[in-house]
Amino acid sequence: MNTDLLWQMDMRGGASLSGDYKLLLKQHIGKPDIPCVQEGDSVRRGARIALADGPEPDLHASVSGTVTQVTREFIVIRGEKPDRDSYEQLPSGDLKERIRAAGIVGMGGAGFPTGIKLSQDITGGTVIANAAECEPILNHNVAQIEADPAEIYRGLVYAMEAVHAARGVIAIKHKHHKAISLLKNVIDDDRVSVFPVEDLYPAGEERALIRDILGILVPPEERAITANTIVINTETLSRVTQAVELGRPVISKNLTVAGKLHGGPKALTLMDVPIGARVGDLIEEAGGIDGDYGEIIMDGPFMGHSVTPDDVITKTTGGIIVTMPFLPEKLPLGLLVCACSASETRMREIAKKMGADVAGVERCKHAVWARGGLKCQNPGVCPGQADRVLRLRKAGARALLIGNCSDCSNTVMSLAPKLHMPVHHVTDSAMRAMDLHLIRKLQKKQPSI
Ligand code: SF4
Repeated sequence: MNTDLLWQMDMRGGASLSGDYKLLLKQHIGKPDIPCVQEGDSVRRGARIALADGPEPDLHASVSGTVTQVTREFIVIRGEKPDRDSYEQLPSGDLKERIRAAGIVGMGGAGFPTGIKLSQDITGGTVIANAAECEPILNHNVAQIEADPAEIYRGLVYAMEAVHAARGVIAIKHKHHKAISLLKNVIDDDRVSVFPVEDLYPAGEERALIRDILGILVPPEERAITANTIVINTETLSRVTQAVELGRPVISKNLTVAGKLHGGPKALTLMDVPIGARVGDLIEEAGGIDGDYGEIIMDGPFMGHSVTPDDVITKTTGGIIVTMPFLPEKLPLGLLVCACSASETRMREIAKKMGADVAGVERCKHAVWARGGLKCQNPGVCPGQADRVLRLRKAGARALLIGNCSDCSNTVMSLAPKLHMPVHHVTDSAMRAMDLHLIRKLQKKQPSI
């Protein structure tokens, strides 16, 4: 991306704390929280409004105001007080108690409760701070590092202390020279280092990072702990620092708003947006939608799902992208599903939006069922796609819709054009909205965001 397409907007404290904020009771892996407020209650920003039914994180008010609706799925607060900087602080407690009480979850999208993750003991092991931000277009993690590298560094040291790790590694794409330099300037502990990763998808996949940094390929059915390692997103680490040092619960989220917006393609970094804010309001904040569009995606182009302007952001929302209209495809489509990208259901939805019939579905041979979903046996390393493409052609497909990683998309492009099969990628309409190279043949020099 041209750097002049990158804008930043500081919403620290919230651009507007008035209006309705709808806070979902399930913003994490595990059981939903149980409301502890009633309609008509006045709440202060940072106050607990729903409690975990187990080790999951509690939910805190993202704005001060009046509770106007309580259901089994969500709580609505009508924000009334423009208290940009104040919030109800967490009760005092030790490191782990503060992390647990702050309601922190994996803010890179996973939603795994951080209090549970950092209650593990990996004595002598490694904490990897994941700043790879490998989804195209998203830029808020790197923007946050550039704004306050010390907050993330201190969060990493707190995490290392909590789990008794011997080493901390910050994984970030090699192209982010400024962020890398800033991080190196604040690191004053020999146990912590920066590890540059490739500008490819899915470089930030947890097991890809462990493989590339530690040389250990964790099997799909296992977790990072198998390698005595914990991988944690950089925004999550900043929330750890805020909880420990300021007693601040998770009440806001950093995200990227991008795509087909007035003023031309751009990616705005919105910092500290109150959780529960409407998608449509944030798009307006970023300039509003420019004319016809395909869909609104929440999160990145690979893993994201389509939403409406009335949906709301959660603790795990990473992006809001307004895409270009879908290119129609009249030929029957073959779907090639990846473990680290759009699901088959999502790909069928995209095919429908393209007006195409689905002739067949195949999975990358590295994609296997494990831990309740598809997992890649060796993330980002293509096992070869020729047999899958030929099987789809045999099933009647005359065009392809793929969701593959960078390396596998490259492989598909070695064969499909020879078979005169047009190729579409699930990320296309988002990438077109940003004037970015499509995920096809690997470029010698990857476009920089
Ligand atoms: S190897 Fe296959 S399953 Fe793994 S990331 Fe690439 S396309 Fe996805």
